[in-house]
Amino acid sequence: MNNPAATNVLTSLASLSIKMHLPVKWAIKKTVYEQFCGGETLEETKLVLSELERFGIGAIIDYGVEGKESEAEFERTKNELIHIIQFAAGKKNIPFISCKVTGLTAFATLEKLNSRVELTTAEQKEKDALYGRMFAIAGAAADAGIGLFVDAEESWIQDAIDDLTFELMRRFNKQKAVIFSTPQMYRHDRLAFSKRSLEDAVQHGYILGLKPVRGAYMDKERKRAQELGYQDPIQPDKAATDRDYDAVIQFSLDHIDKIALCAATHNENSSLLLANALNDRGIAHNHPHIWFSQLFGMSDQITYNLAKSGYNVAKYLPYGPVKDVIPYLIRRAQENKSVSGQMSRELSLIHKEIKRRGI
Ligand SMILES: Cc1cc2nc3c(=O)[nH]c(=O)nc-3n(C[C@H](O)[C@H](O)[C@H](O)COP(=O)(O)OP(=O)(O)OC[C@H]3O[C@@H](n4cnc5c(N)ncnc54)[C@H](O)[C@@H]3O)c2cc1C
Repeated sequence: MNNPAATNVLTSLASLSIKMHLPVKWAIKKTVYEQFCGGETLEETKLVLSELERFGIGAIIDYGVEGKESEAEFERTKNELIHIIQFAAGKKNIPFISCKVTGLTAFATLEKLNSRVELTTAEQKEKDALYGRMFAIAGAAADAGIGLFVDAEESWIQDAIDDLTFELMRRFNKQKAVIFSTPQMYRHDRLAFSKRSLEDAVQHGYILGLKPVRGAYMDKERKRAQELGYQDPIQPDKAATDRDYDAVIQFSLDHIDKIALCAATHNENSSLLLANALNDRGIAHNHPHIWFSQLFGMSDQITYNLAKSGYNVAKYLPYGPVKDVIPYLIRRAQENKSVSGQMSRELSLIHKEIKRRGI
C-alpha cells in the first residue's frame, strides 16, 4: 500500500476479478482482508474480540456489506444487524455497532430522498421500508444497551441519511446517546451542521450522539463536483479539515452534558488534543460521553496507549464475506497509499521501535 501505482492497479484488478468470479479470494483474504477485517462471520470475530478485550479495548462491530440493491438483501442486512446486537448484548467489550444506510436501501432511493422532491407511491413505500428497518435496528440497540453509529457516505445522499438519523435520535436518545450521527469534517459545512444538530437536540430534549470523522470519499466528491459544475463540498485543504475536526472536539467538550462524542480518527494530534483536554478540564478518562476509535488494522500505537491510560477506546471491526467487503478494503488501500499516510507512519514507528530494542 506504500506504492500508489501498485495500489491503484491491484485495487482495480481485485474488484474486476471478484466481478468475473475469478479465484482470487484466497489472495485477498491472506493480505488486506486479514489486516482490516475480523472474519467472514460473526463467530469468526471472536478471536479478535477476545484479544482486544485482553488490552481493555472495545469493539464497534460493523457488518461490512454495503451497496446492495434488492429488498431481500436489505432484509438480510437488517436481520444480520439485529443478530449482532443480540450477540453484543451483555458483552462489556462491544459498546457499539455501526451501520451503513446503503446496506438497507437502494442508492437511487437515497438520492431521491436527498433531492426532497415529491415521492411517487412506490418511492414512498421504499422510504417507509427503510425507516421501518432502521427503527427496528435502533429499537433493538436501545433495548440491548448498545450504541448505533450511522456511518456517513457520499454528500449527495447524506441529507437523506441525516434526516433519518435525526428522527432516530429524537426517538431513542432521550435518556442516553444510543444513536450517533457522523459529521465528515472534510466538508466545509459540517462544523455549522454539528452546531445545528445540538440545537435540534436541545429543542427536542435528547442527547446528541456525534462521531466526527474527516471523511473517506474526498477524490470522488471533488471529481463529481467538477464534472457536474457545482461548488466542491470539500474543504480547500487538509489544514482546514484538521481545524474543523479539532473545533468539533472542543465544541463537544463545551457541551459534554448534552453531547456524547466518539472521536473516530487516526490523527495523532486530534487524539492527543482530546486526551489532554480531558485532563485540562478535569473530565474523567472514562467519562461515558467520551470515546476514541480507530479502524481495526490501523494506528494500534494510538489505540493501545489510550486504553492503557484508561480512556474509553474501541476498534471499528468489520466482518463479512470477502466479496462483500471489497469496497471497504479499497477505501482503506486508497487512503493508505500515500507515503505521508497512516500506514507509512506506523511502519516507520515499528522500524524505530525494533531498532530501539536492538532486535
Ligand atoms: C472509527 C472510524 C469510523 C469511520 N467512519 C467513517 C464514516 O462513517 N464515513 C466516512 O466517510 N469515513 C469514516 N471513517 C474514515 C475517515 O473518514 C478517514 O478517512 C480516516 O479516518 C482518515 O482520517 P483521520 O482522521 O484518521 O486522519 P488523517 O490521516 O490526519 O486525515 C486524512 C483525511 O484528511 C482529509 N484530507 C486529506 N487531504 C485533504 C485535503 N487536501 N483537503 C481536505 N481534506 C483532506 C481526508 O478526509 C483524509 O481521509 C471512519 C474512521 C474511523 C477511524
